Amino acid sequence: MSLEAATTSPLTSAEILRWYAEMGVDIAIDAVPHDRFAQSEAARQIAATASLPPVGESSRPPRVLPPRQNPASPPPAAASIGAQAGIASAQDIARAAPDLQSLRAALQAYEGCALRATATSLVFADGNPQARLMLVGEAPGADEDRQGLPFSGPDGQMLDKMLAAVGLDRTSVYIASIIPWRPPGNRKPSPQEAALCLPFIARHIELANPDILVCLGGGPATALLGVKDGIMRARGKWFDYVGATRRIRAFVTVHPSMLGTATHKRLAWKDWREVRKALDEGG
Ligand code: URA
Repeated sequence: MSLEAATTSPLTSAEILRWYAEMGVDIAIDAVPHDRFAQSEAARQIAATASLPPVGESSRPPRVLPPRQNPASPPPAAASIGAQAGIASAQDIARAAPDLQSLRAALQAYEGCALRATATSLVFADGNPQARLMLVGEAPGADEDRQGLPFSGPDGQMLDKMLAAVGLDRTSVYIASIIPWRPPGNRKPSPQEAALCLPFIARHIELANPDILVCLGGGPATALLGVKDGIMRARGKWFDYVGATRRIRAFVTVHPSMLGTATHKRLAWKDWREVRKALDEGG
């Protein structure tokens, strides 16, 4: 339905619902409206005044590498001057976080990415931040948005089964996503949204400081490792993730949402055994 038609004729409930769905409003969150802008301001003020003890971050100090081009940094030509300023500000905010709890608070208060305004929750991380293995997904869906935890819906159940098959669970892995807010209607994050969130996941990885990073699907493989060949070529392979302070061995596997077919399940099973082997061999 066009906006013109919507404003000149009375709408049925079905038409209003259809219009909401087309706009990406596809879940009912609550029975009463919320002023998210007022909530954002309150969260910003709390984060600005909170004293944040360093809990939850890895006890292993990051090693410092000489400066090197990070494939996770967007090329300057890809962004306009305004967008570059937004990315630079996101980088400054992310780098200033001394620990995971501060990074979470900084993201709670961050208003530079429009996805935050339409999401119900910040989906920061789940699992054990001390784990040697860190998994990175793409973006939360409706279940994750409701619960504020990555991989808490059907994809998460599939992921848990794969982890269990190689003797792992959420106490032995740490899980985050490159985008910490649900894109409305589960649409793909725009390049600008991805670029604004990248400094935060880069800092998140740096603070968690895992021995091994696993990219779940093509989105994180492209954003973190610069993979351009498509997930089916990249999966099952090892890469170097180049962070600000160190390189980390990184592996690519299919996203759990692809595990509905026997072929993908077989490939994922092979991938997870490879990850298990690397962990057993010391990363
Ligand atoms: N897919 C993701 O990449 N992350 C989630 O948290 C859920 C689904």
